[in-house]
Amino acid sequence: MTTTIKAEYEIDLALHKKDFKVNKIQDFCPLCHSSIKPVYRYASVDNRGLQAVFECPKENCQKLFIAYYRTSTADERSQVEIEYYYSSSEPIRVKEKVFSETIANISAQFCEVYNEARIAEQRRLKNIYGPGFRRAIEFLIKDYLIHEKKDEKEEIENKSLLDCVEQYIDDPRIKECAKMAAWLSDGESHYYRKWGDKDLNDLKVIIDLTVNWIESESLAKK
Ligand SMILES: [Zn+2]
Repeated sequence: MTTTIKAEYEIDLALHKKDFKVNKIQDFCPLCHSSIKPVYRYASVDNRGLQAVFECPKENCQKLFIAYYRTSTADERSQVEIEYYYSSSEPIRVKEKVFSETIANISAQFCEVYNEARIAEQRRLKNIYGPGFRRAIEFLIKDYLIHEKKDEKEEIENKSLLDCVEQYIDDPRIKECAKMAAWLSDGESHYYRKWGDKDLNDLKVIIDLTVNWIESESLAKK
């Protein structure tokens, strides 16, 4: 929703203030993750863009953060009168994903690596989060198989993820899913795979499906 932010700017060493049109004001706090209507504190504009300081109104947070806006591109300019587009906020505190006890007991390493990949994703560390999520799913599948077949621990550890999926997973739907995960997680050093956002979203969906599968299998066994 288009709105305005009052911001200071400098011309010939004199400070001026006026309203600038922006495409939105974020509706969540990057620190406590609550839905909020941020309280405006200050903003300034220069040739690099608009920076606005907001405060979170939640009583147990009340932290300040900076929202960064960039100037509209020629494309955007032809359509609307917006002068600045929201790009990001800082600082960010990443909210950890809490997995069920079942998953945490089967693979603590999965939970740890998954959350590290999330931090990298939110900090836009592109070279880190793709391989991070790939590593996470490998831990999850292999640890689950080891949990189920304790006497084959060494064999499972030494096999590729794809071989493990082929050999140990029977359910055809899960097998397809895990095979795709194995394919997406083929991170051999001689094979550089350019990591696109679509692949990453696919992998995250596969991670969710695998988590659900392991949880329901474990529940059924109980
Ligand atoms: Zn907050």
